[in-house]
Amino acid sequence: MVKLEPIIGLEIHLELSTKSKLFCHCPNDAHPVKPNTNICPICLGHPGVLPVINQEAIKRTLKLGLSLNGKISEYCWFDRKNYFYPDLPKGYQISQYSLPIINNGFLEIEVEKINKKISLTRIHLEEDTAKLLHSDKDWSLIDFNRSGIPLLEVVTDPDIRTPLEAKIFLQELQKVARYLDISKANMEKGQMRCDVNISLRPVKNKLTKKFYPKTEIKNLNSFKSVEDSLIYEIKRQTKKWQNGQPPQRQTTRGWDENNHLTYEQRSKEEEQDYRYFPEPDLPMLRFKSKKSKFELPFDIKEIEQSLPELPIAKRKRFLKNYGLTLPEAKILTENQVLADFTEKVIMEVQAWLVSLETIEGTEQEIWQKHKNQLIKVIANWLINRLLPLQKRAAKSDFPFTPENFAEFIILVYEKKVSSTLAQSILEKMFSEGKDVDRIIEDHQLTPEQDKDKIGKIVFEVIKSNPEIVEKYQQGKHVVIQFLIGQVMKKTQGQSDPGLVRKLLEKELKI
Ligand code: ZN
Ligand code: MN
Repeated sequence: MVKLEPIIGLEIHLELSTKSKLFCHCPNDAHPVKPNTNICPICLGHPGVLPVINQEAIKRTLKLGLSLNGKISEYCWFDRKNYFYPDLPKGYQISQYSLPIINNGFLEIEVEKINKKISLTRIHLEEDTAKLLHSDKDWSLIDFNRSGIPLLEVVTDPDIRTPLEAKIFLQELQKVARYLDISKANMEKGQMRCDVNISLRPVKNKLTKKFYPKTEIKNLNSFKSVEDSLIYEIKRQTKKWQNGQPPQRQTTRGWDENNHLTYEQRSKEEEQDYRYFPEPDLPMLRFKSKKSKFELPFDIKEIEQSLPELPIAKRKRFLKNYGLTLPEAKILTENQVLADFTEKVIMEVQAWLVSLETIEGTEQEIWQKHKNQLIKVIANWLINRLLPLQKRAAKSDFPFTPENFAEFIILVYEKKVSSTLAQSILEKMFSEGKDVDRIIEDHQLTPEQDKDKIGKIVFEVIKSNPEIVEKYQQGKHVVIQFLIGQVMKKTQGQSDPGLVRKLLEKELKI
């Protein structure tokens, strides 16, 4: 049997989160309280109306394009893509065909510790369609709130080779869109939608660049459905190849989430079916041409300089500079707020270290000496303690400053409080938004009290386990593990085992 490899490309639609729609003043909100409220003659496609381009949408397209190393077209225009469907009031979609705003570029992804660049074909701007709501009877409803919302279409080259790569690409793109703050990119809310295309090719044809007719799977709205539908499609097409009947023509298939299979929808329209032609009601966009008739309302250089560091670059830097593990770096760069917070905490803690009046050595030496342990403490308390609190509260920001959290970390690092007490301090900091000192003062949480509390439990455990105590005193010191376990159990695993051991040893020696 001939060895086959999957050739996968993606087409992603991203709804830009601008204030207004692409060609009219209607609020860009697809889900207001009522259907058909954010509408006007322009986005309803009434005859005789004139669209006006939303400059912010162009700016955001440039932001994404530049971040992904794309080339800005010297000039381009919008085209009419003609087709009839009830969700398209004009009978055509204003899109871009022959010249997109952005050409080429790439997005770097990391799949199982290997970095790979996925090339992009293009990024263009177009308008979203209305939303159809089908009843299970014989009627459908149309909600035009979504009609005319700016959509970015990102098209990749067929560079992707596995369903996992496809999923990771989408997750990375989502992160980039959120770092750039151009789109909420929530797949469940339809702010990011994906079509995949896939064909198989004998591995021996690798160098010929020959591709076989592809199958497109439309409207996938979760990372999981992208991955699952591709896995299914690879199996289905492999069978066809094995039976000597590889797909002969390009087709479009849908994904049946419940039955976990793809099904044939229609043969794909040929491009000429759309009868593209330049949109006569909109001006040409000139980005670089000297002959520019109108000044762009923004400076491309300025946009370029204002771009944030991309998540993958940040991840690499976190790995290299701070010695975080890969899983830690991934979590901590998940979004810009968290990444900035983490970095500020590290800086603060570092500044505190350096400020210590010490004979330990130069600043660099002090940092090197404590770095590993400190970073471990920071990562642990951020990921395992703070983020769950944040998740429970369904928040995306923090109720206290990185400085506050750094103070807290120092307290933990210097072992001034047990792990139990630290947890309760953090919870109170989180719910009350106050700094460490205030929390300790307001709630009279002192390390001594904490020690007393554990001390009492230690005493109880010793009292109720005379045989074990006897064994210990006869020199069988391993049994202390049992006693530690008992204390941990009584404190719901919240106490610091080191402290428990110390207190036990102290009691048992008398
Ligand atoms: Zn409108
Ligand atoms: Mn499109």
